[in-house]
Amino acid sequence: GIKCGIVGLPNVGKSTLFNALTKSGVGASNFPFCTIEPNTGVVAIPDPRLTALAQIVKPQKTIATTMEFVDIAGLVEGASKGEGLGNQFLANIRETDAIAHVVRCFEDDNVIHVANKIDPADDIDIINTELALADLESIDKQIFRLAKKAKGQDKEAIRQIEILKKAKPHLEAGKPLRSLELEEEEALSLDKEFHMLTIKKTMYIANVDEDGFENNPHLDVVRKIAEEEGASLVVVCNQLEAEISELEDEEKLEFLEGIGMTEPGLDRVIRAGYELLGLQTYFTAGVQEVRAWTVKKGATGPQAAGVIHGDFERGFIRAETIAYDDFIEFKGEAGAKEAGKLRAEGKSYIVKDGDVLHFLFNV
Ligand code: GDP
Repeated sequence: GIKCGIVGLPNVGKSTLFNALTKSGVGASNFPFCTIEPNTGVVAIPDPRLTALAQIVKPQKTIATTMEFVDIAGLVEGASKGEGLGNQFLANIRETDAIAHVVRCFEDDNVIHVANKIDPADDIDIINTELALADLESIDKQIFRLAKKAKGQDKEAIRQIEILKKAKPHLEAGKPLRSLELEEEEALSLDKEFHMLTIKKTMYIANVDEDGFENNPHLDVVRKIAEEEGASLVVVCNQLEAEISELEDEEKLEFLEGIGMTEPGLDRVIRAGYELLGLQTYFTAGVQEVRAWTVKKGATGPQAAGVIHGDFERGFIRAETIAYDDFIEFKGEAGAKEAGKLRAEGKSYIVKDGDVLHFLFNV
């Protein structure tokens, strides 16, 4: 599954956001280091298309696709040197696909700030510096480890060291690797082989007060930083989201309308994560279940099948494909087929967002 790690300084509202996301009741408290173990929650991706498909197919079950969120606590200044929860924290981040960086953009004297002042630029810098330092340390270790092999003319080791040495000065300049221009292969290496933290896709989540969406200088600072880094930004009031997540569906709509919102801010957070990772959704629509699945943009038919089961990918023959709009317009598979909208697509088919797929495969 896809995993998104929530990071940020203590007391900026990470647990509050995480709780709202998962409603799992992990204790939010006005106390740094409250969330010690990484807390993992699985979140359904909101998608109105799933409901529309279910209305036509009337299946026994409707299953949304999901994203995993991990509340990663304990990053403070000096984490890369083992302060706070230090290395534990860094290990947890390494396992994620993307990072949601929560930044405090609200004033509240009742909520302690670890540095005793609300300064988003400084907060962001502390986190990013710790991550860069952790990467630097890891790079030095790996260069050291590979040096002997490289001396022995081991081609693979030489290649790896070259990549590491390209990354190093960028980190030394205090910049995240995601802003370094790299060949696709190099980026892949730094990510999957060397588990660099600062190469991970990142979005900022500005946590504002209820009245802090406009005329908020803290928010302006974060917006500017995100723009400069080419990172995405989502503005939410985590506390409000926590309250909204407690409501029943009907109350929720009423409440949202009352405050002039059309959807919970969390939906924007989830969708931003989805966008960030270049993901799209396809559907399977049978009478037993209508279900949404997550696949990378650009994935082929077999790769999409592989999301369901490895055997589907290996034994892939073809995918009976109906575009989402056709499925809706012709009110289901039979209608779409009659209208000539059901296509048989082979191994090289590039799956499109919203495709309704039925896989045929050899076992
Ligand atoms: P974490 O340490 O980053 O996980 O922070 P928490 O989620 O535990 O939040 C720390 C404190 O800030 C708690 O007392 C929250 O109720 C409070 N808090 C979180 N979000 C907001 C917000 O949007 N506005 C205000 N005023 N307080 C918030």
